[in-house]
Amino acid sequence: MTTFTILFAISLIALIGRFIYNSKVKKSGYKVPEVFPEDWRFFLEQEVQFYANLNPEEKLLFESDIQHFLGTIRITGVKTPVNDEDRLLVASSAVIPIFRFPEWEYKTLYEVLLYPDLFTEEYDFKSKDRTISGMVGDGGVMSHVVLFSKPALRMGFDIKNDKHNVGIHEFVHLFDKQDGSVDGIPSVIMQHQAVLPWLNLISKNTAEMIVGKSDINVYGATNPQEFLAVTSEYFFERPELFKEKHPELYEVLSSVFQNDLAKNID
Ligand SMILES: [Zn+2]
Repeated sequence: MTTFTILFAISLIALIGRFIYNSKVKKSGYKVPEVFPEDWRFFLEQEVQFYANLNPEEKLLFESDIQHFLGTIRITGVKTPVNDEDRLLVASSAVIPIFRFPEWEYKTLYEVLLYPDLFTEEYDFKSKDRTISGMVGDGGVMSHVVLFSKPALRMGFDIKNDKHNVGIHEFVHLFDKQDGSVDGIPSVIMQHQAVLPWLNLISKNTAEMIVGKSDINVYGATNPQEFLAVTSEYFFERPELFKEKHPELYEVLSSVFQNDLAKNID
């Protein structure tokens, strides 16, 4: 092959790559600003503690992850309007767990639905039995959807120290789902940690939670997948406290998410 042929082939591959990327960007139907808006930056600084704690270079990476997410995943309001602040909170919830994995894509996710209130398993937000603040859709087209109550999503970020954030919770389920199953054992655990000690840690902590001897939300005692999602909320919202109270769990989660959030605290 001549140099020209090689160069031609390289530019063709680059063009095709860009075409695929662009067609994906159009998929979300939302025109993402090319330059990250100053008021978005201000909003993240006020509302998203994870972002506020990053250094300037990391903040730029976070912003670019947000732009990528908004360009690829559709966010739709069901009987409720969606503004840029809602979009930023959805995207932040998605970016936080995968921040240390630059290549990560939520492969199974096409769309995020925002509801005006809590809802039921049947997605009914008017029933008096509505209790669900967020869930990963299951079965058929719903397997590519994650749903949130918009007020609950906002509350997760408004109250910054309650170890609870439904946005992070649901995206950790998706992170867990990437290897095919939501089972509380994301594939990265297999890479960095042994599974058996992790399962032992889950049962030891679950026993303490059930008898009220733990400050971890007892909902996490439901099963290993809820344990992972609930402890991840705690890990991302209160890393120092989590490290102090649950050093073994902190070690596993900082390895799973490749993020030693409380590194300045001994
Ligand atoms: Zn859950």
